[in-house]
Amino acid sequence: MRVSKTSAAANGAESGIPAATAVPADATAEAESAPVAGTVARVRKANKRAKETPTGLVRRARRMNRELALAFPDAHCELDFTTPLELAVATILSAQCTDVRVNMTTPALFSKYRSAKDYAEANRTELEEMIRPTGFYRNKANSLIGLGQALVEQYDGVLPNKLDRLVQLPGIGRKTANVILGNAFGVPGITVDTHFGRLVRRWKWTDEEDPVKVEHIVGDLIERKEWTMLSHRVIFHGRRVCHARKPACGACILAKDCPSYGLGPTDPAQAAALIKGPETEHLLELVGL
Ligand code: SF4
Repeated sequence: MRVSKTSAAANGAESGIPAATAVPADATAEAESAPVAGTVARVRKANKRAKETPTGLVRRARRMNRELALAFPDAHCELDFTTPLELAVATILSAQCTDVRVNMTTPALFSKYRSAKDYAEANRTELEEMIRPTGFYRNKANSLIGLGQALVEQYDGVLPNKLDRLVQLPGIGRKTANVILGNAFGVPGITVDTHFGRLVRRWKWTDEEDPVKVEHIVGDLIERKEWTMLSHRVIFHGRRVCHARKPACGACILAKDCPSYGLGPTDPAQAAALIKGPETEHLLELVGL
């Protein structure tokens, strides 16, 4: 590819983009310039992001949340449950296991174990056998029996609706507690699972790895009433579009606000083929594909 050094240097000087990545001025190179233009766009974005103010970050984060609301109007907890206790049990079982598999396991479990007392008095071997498909079934059986006993002893068998009390219960960490608060009690909560942490770091909302720090930082960026739905939307986006290995950047509704645009294919057709799930058609329509 031929690049006019003079023009490239001039472009670089004006835009703050390194001359090596500036757009070729030579019209004959136009056909080859798409990848270069893509690089320029990314460098421009990176430069802009480096100067982003705290207010700018809040605005961008909220804008992205609004875009995600358009993309996933029906985002929800993908675990099946009808009571707070069932949600607590399903969330405990979901550790290192897919929601789909948990949902295949819980109907029989919930019809046999209907109360905290049932878990407290469970026959360990039977319980382990029922939850075996979700993996780590011995530890999970310990948690479920311990949870049932603690609820019976301390709360008359009823799950409390306060974070500080929930996190004291066997098997319930902060992430599980926030899932329960947000989805069973209507108390806004941010669920930092692997998808959520991965995506907010890609979006440069934070560089933190620690889930509790991530939760607090994102809590400062996004309105409290949005926390639960934001969590669902981000997790939906992580499962359907922004995959860990090959994100569908060329078909992503967040592309214009995402500092990691280009991590996956930017070709629209290639990217569209990477999108998963029942919302695929809707997602593609939103980006004009
Ligand atoms: S542009 Fe790419 S990296 Fe950014 S959110 Fe979309 S799919 Fe993920």
